Amino acid sequence: MSIASLSAPQVQSMLLTVADAVIAAEPYLSEADRNLGDGDHGIGMARGFRAVKEKIQATDPSEGVGKLFSHAGMAMITSMGGASGAIFGTVFRDGGKAIAAAPALDAPALAALLQGALDGVVARGKAKPGDKTMVDALHPAALQAAAVASLPLGDALLAVAQAAEDGRDASKAMIATLGRAKTLGEASIGHPDAGACSIALILRTMSDFAQAAAA
Ligand code: ADP
Ligand code: MG
Repeated sequence: MSIASLSAPQVQSMLLTVADAVIAAEPYLSEADRNLGDGDHGIGMARGFRAVKEKIQATDPSEGVGKLFSHAGMAMITSMGGASGAIFGTVFRDGGKAIAAAPALDAPALAALLQGALDGVVARGKAKPGDKTMVDALHPAALQAAAVASLPLGDALLAVAQAAEDGRDASKAMIATLGRAKTLGEASIGHPDAGACSIALILRTMSDFAQAAAA
């Protein structure tokens, strides 16, 4: 059985589960960044998601699913600092804004959320697919979400999480042209981008939550 949609209280609980997963993945995410950057990605993400937990626990879910995501994004922007805080916070803030009117998170809302997130990140960071950034996981995830928008949310999330993981894996073969890793040139080949690892982890955790909610 696949769940058709998640209510605002369920999305609140999903975001807390995502936060715990990112915090637990701090060593993995920092290791990914150590291969290509300065090794602090897990630290920044864990800091951001500790702030997300605090903010989301204090949010009344009757504010709506969009507000839950955008509050999470603002918590990241104000707590993480730096370029990546702004970029990852934008994923949640602009994604949430794109579904401000949604009464629940269903597959069409997921597609709108990911497209809003992608548009916001690209407007802010100017990364193109193939630059070896988190966009290489987010872009295929947004495309897949649009393609499966007629499915129940649980099935849509399974496909979207897979697309993000495929994008993360495809980033291994790319040469970094943005961010700290660009100075490595061809030496950046062979490792996945750290931000793409984060996006894949977030979407896989959302999918796992939706599969468990249907059981
Ligand atoms: P910093 O680079 O400041 O140390 P982090 O280590 O937390 O920040 O994050 C690095 C990640 O940020 C990269 O792996 C990449 O996915 C993402 N990133 C960097 N620059 C951009 C950009 N312009 N657009 C999208 N994502 C970016
Ligand atoms: Mg870093």
